[in-house]
Amino acid sequence: MTLPSILLAPTQVTDFSRFYQATVDRIEYPRTITELHQLVTTSKKPIALAGGKYSMGGQVWCQDGLVIDTAQLNAITAFDPEKKVVTVQAGIRWRDVQEFLLRHGLAVQVMQSYNDFSVGGFLAVNVHGRDP
Ligand SMILES: Cc1cc2nc3c(=O)[nH]c(=O)nc-3n(C[C@H](O)[C@H](O)[C@H](O)COP(=O)(O)OP(=O)(O)OC[C@H]3O[C@@H](n4cnc5c(N)ncnc54)[C@H](O)[C@@H]3O)c2cc1C
Repeated sequence: MTLPSILLAPTQVTDFSRFYQATVDRIEYPRTITELHQLVTTSKKPIALAGGKYSMGGQVWCQDGLVIDTAQLNAITAFDPEKKVVTVQAGIRWRDVQEFLLRHGLAVQVMQSYNDFSVGGFLAVNVHGRDP
C-alpha cells in the first residue's frame, strides 16, 4: 500500500496541493484495530492520522512524527437496512460506502464534491456537503 497523493520518498511527504512539504519519521498502514492500538500506545513520536489525504494544508502529518494511514481500515462492520444505518471503519472511502448502499437500493443524500474522501477525514474536518 502506498501513500499515492503525498508520497515523495519513504519519509518525504507533501500535501494534495504540493504546497507544503515535510519529513516524517515513518508511515504505517494498520490493517486491524489491534495493530492501530499497538501503534498508538507504543509511539514515542507525535502521531498524525491520514485518511484520503485530500486536505491541502499539511493536516495529515507532523514533522518527524508517525503518520498512521487508515486506508486499510476500510471495512463495513454492520448494516441495518430497516433503520438505514451502516457502520464502517474510519478509513473507508465514500465511494465504497456508496457502492455498498447501491446494492441495497440506498444512496447518501448529501455528499461532498468528490467521493474519494474517507469517512474519518470527513468527520475530522466538519465536512460541508453539496445538496443542489
Ligand atoms: C478537489 C477537492 C474538493 C473538495 N471538496 C470538498 C467538499 O465538497 N466538502 C468538504 O467538506 N471538503 C472538501 N474538500 C476538502 C477535503 O479534502 C475534505 O474535507 C475531505 O473530507 C478530507 O477527507 P480526507 O479523507 O481526504 O481527509 P485527510 O485529508 O486525510 O485528513 C483531513 C483531516 O482529518 C484527520 N483525519 C483523517 N482521518 C482521521 C481519523 N480516522 N480520525 C481522526 N482524524 C482523522 C487528518 O489528520 C486531517 O487533520 C475538497 C478538497 C479537494 C482537494
